[in-house]
Amino acid sequence: MGKLIVFEGTDGSGKSTQFSLLTKRLEEEGVGFRRLRFPRYAEESSALIRMYLGGAFGSDPESVNAYMASSFYAVDRCASYLQDWKADYEKGCLFLADRYTTSNAVHQGSKMEPREREAYYGWLYDYEYGKLGLPKPDLVILLDMPIELTRQLMRKREADTNTKADIHEQDLSYLEQCRASAKTAAAFYGWQVVSGAKDGALRSIEEIHEEVYAIVKKCLEG
Ligand code: ADP
Repeated sequence: MGKLIVFEGTDGSGKSTQFSLLTKRLEEEGVGFRRLRFPRYAEESSALIRMYLGGAFGSDPESVNAYMASSFYAVDRCASYLQDWKADYEKGCLFLADRYTTSNAVHQGSKMEPREREAYYGWLYDYEYGKLGLPKPDLVILLDMPIELTRQLMRKREADTNTKADIHEQDLSYLEQCRASAKTAAAFYGWQVVSGAKDGALRSIEEIHEEVYAIVKKCLEG
């Protein structure tokens, strides 16, 4: 079987920046790997996700519960696995994924009371890896960023790309819930947490990258 390394982080944690730095460095070193990115909005298998985000099942986020929404995202992963990467995974290929089942844990877990989260996390892993048979990651890296700094990064991204943060990203209490859910999930599942901040200030992109790279190297050598 192959290896699967997953990158997770709340919006504005610097995840895209770190994911591309890591893949670039591995490419330069001649490490063979394939990239995966979820959800796959351009594919038919994401139809229910698009309907859900577009409000087809109600504009209130509560109208689709965490278990139902998780299923929409899981189905897209199943289609991706069967159509695109199962054969290579079984041949031993290395995969780097930008989001995975882990995003259900972070985002859907944020919708529930903290005391309900662990039951949901247990169900989620059993569902996607146990019952659906999707590959279980060998390593999950969670980029953790305090929300005050997330806002700084989002403003930077808005300026860089001339776009506006979406309504979810602008909702600070939602971001706070996601961060709390991500931290509980990391402890529950044993994810590696890399902090984007030190003493309340942003760490440099390079410094974060070196920490991520060292963790990934250790996993690849293991
Ligand atoms: P995400 O994918 O988590 O939403 P990005 O990686 O797109 O976040 O980062 C948002 C913006 O913040 C980009 O302009 C990026 O260059 C910048 N950025 C990311 N990490 C840092 C950091 N540690 N220090 C300063 N700027 C950063």
